[in-house]
Amino acid sequence: MTSKALDTLLKEERTFKPTPNFIKQAIMKDKNIYKQNNKQKFWEGFARELHWFKKWDKILEWTPPNAKWFINGKTNLTFNCIDRHLSTWKRTKAAIIWEGEPGETRTLTYQELHREVCQFANALKSLGIKKGDRITIYLPMIPEAAIAMLACARIGAPHSVVFGGFSSDSLRDRINDSKSKIVITADGGWRKGSIVPLKANTDEALRETPSIEKVIVVKRIGNEISMTKKRDLLWNDIVKTQPYDCEAEEMDSEDLLYLLYTSGTTGKPKGIVHTTGGYMTGVYATTKWIFDIKDSDIFWCSADVGWVTGHSYVVYGPLLNGATTLLYEGAPNYPDNDRFWSIIAKHRVNIFYTAPTAIRSFMKFGKELPQKHDMSSLRLLGTVGEPINPEAWIWYYEAIGRNNCPIVDTWWQTETGHILISPLPGITKLKPGSATIPFPGIDADIVNEKGESVDAGYLVIKSPWPGMLRGIYGDPERYQKQYWSQYKNWYFTGDGAKRDKEGYFWLLGRVDDVMKVSGHRISTMEVESALVDHKVVAEAAVIGKHHDIKENSIVAFVTLKANIKSSTDLTDELKNHVVKKIGSIARPDEILFTAELPKTRSGKIMRRLLRDIAEGRALGDTTTLADSNVVRRFYVEGYTQR
Ligand code: ATP
Ligand code: MG
Repeated sequence: MTSKALDTLLKEERTFKPTPNFIKQAIMKDKNIYKQNNKQKFWEGFARELHWFKKWDKILEWTPPNAKWFINGKTNLTFNCIDRHLSTWKRTKAAIIWEGEPGETRTLTYQELHREVCQFANALKSLGIKKGDRITIYLPMIPEAAIAMLACARIGAPHSVVFGGFSSDSLRDRINDSKSKIVITADGGWRKGSIVPLKANTDEALRETPSIEKVIVVKRIGNEISMTKKRDLLWNDIVKTQPYDCEAEEMDSEDLLYLLYTSGTTGKPKGIVHTTGGYMTGVYATTKWIFDIKDSDIFWCSADVGWVTGHSYVVYGPLLNGATTLLYEGAPNYPDNDRFWSIIAKHRVNIFYTAPTAIRSFMKFGKELPQKHDMSSLRLLGTVGEPINPEAWIWYYEAIGRNNCPIVDTWWQTETGHILISPLPGITKLKPGSATIPFPGIDADIVNEKGESVDAGYLVIKSPWPGMLRGIYGDPERYQKQYWSQYKNWYFTGDGAKRDKEGYFWLLGRVDDVMKVSGHRISTMEVESALVDHKVVAEAAVIGKHHDIKENSIVAFVTLKANIKSSTDLTDELKNHVVKKIGSIARPDEILFTAELPKTRSGKIMRRLLRDIAEGRALGDTTTLADSNVVRRFYVEGYTQR
């Protein structure tokens, strides 16, 4: 890592301290909270705030790489998300506010949510579903997605949510990997004014899924669909006669809660295993302190429930805290580029959590759009998913937060279950581009190959945390190899990071994305930030292409801002800009202009595909690619010949 260069590049001079007004109302404002002598006791404190049918005998059992939390404790996640609030005034409070892409809204109180979840849970039971049976959920962002997840958790049937934007092949593979008995889908969902044919995709997938017994179909759109007799059932038909109450299954703390496949940015998706008690505790704690969530807040996390962010911070985290969570079905740019801002204004959202990729695309549309809307209700912003470049951070802070909302840049993974590195907004001084410091109770470090603590190296977690993955489904070997083979007893995140003088963590992207140029290690993110720093560049993705002498040559794929034309002069100018910002060692050998970059469905750039393209190889796993035409266009436009 050319860490001197990073210093200059990532150093946005300004830092942002919590304002007295924010501190005054913050849930957590005690700096001493970081002095945790006993991390297990720290987490136990949060577990005690939740409901357990039977208390645990022991907090942790750790036989690396297998952790068990809250041994012999019995609880139920859905009971904690809903029933716990029914004996309080929150019974009539909005649990979920939903907005469909066409603009209709639906609000469910905690009492109503309880009824819907219980009725659907009873319907699942009536179909013979028992504790331990896996269920695949392939739905658009409609209330039924949350209801289905909560119903599964209520009866102890682990769910595997598959993002509604995935193709039938991806759905088929995930169903087969999890051996689900039921798939829950819809006739369709709205996306950018078109219907996503979820039922048709499901039918296609089900040609090769021997484990599936039944298909439950929500009528979202009312479009024509084909129903297979005996196998396919309508949600409303099976729910309407069910009793309003369904007892919550007493789950062991270590019982399987859900499976979720990772985004596949670095390779074939992995089926990540999460269990009940520890996950619940970690998600509850981080939502409470990091999002500073209050009874009066409307919380909007724009992630799809198909991602871990949607699990932990659209559904479970806010409901565990008795908050109001907003679900939006559709695209951020439909019918216009300001849809998100109009939702914030309309529902008077207080806390907004989104991804850097979304922020960068909003930047492209300009500041005028958010200015058209009254977003004065916002008091806290968050980001997740990728490192956020300081330029985007500042734009988010100014244009969306009106210089008045702290931004929590939260680092975590599907594997970690909940946020591990993040500011606490009432305590932490913010530095644009840094996820700041580990959450109290989290033992994160940056180490070199030998395991020594260093200022630039690999991010590891040195002791277990409650929401950590318990394995890769059906593949203990890959689990061991992927996360536990690099260091003895430490969790290897696969991300590179740098630590500054104040101990702040700066995430540098994936270790796989580090380039080696003539003996120097340069992170792709570093060169990308230098490129994005140029006024004409909207987005950049950089890869190291194999080079016989230098080991890697630097290839940059660049998208330009609206109305900017590419030219040889511009290529030189951009190369020189990188030299000016980092040094001649980082000068890109090639710059390729492109209208789009290949991204995962969650909006992350798939550099491994760009590497395949640049080196003229057959593409690796593309099942998680958002738009398969993007890579096809690369070939059509002849990039492989270069
Ligand atoms: P796969 O593991 O299948 O390649 P993925 O890693 O993209 O997919 P996720 O679990 O969705 O799947 O993403 C976690 C990764 O996202 C982290 O390892 C990190 O690289 C990146 N990330 C998440 N949040 C942040 C953040 N705040 N700052 C920097 N990077 C982040
Ligand atoms: Mg990953």
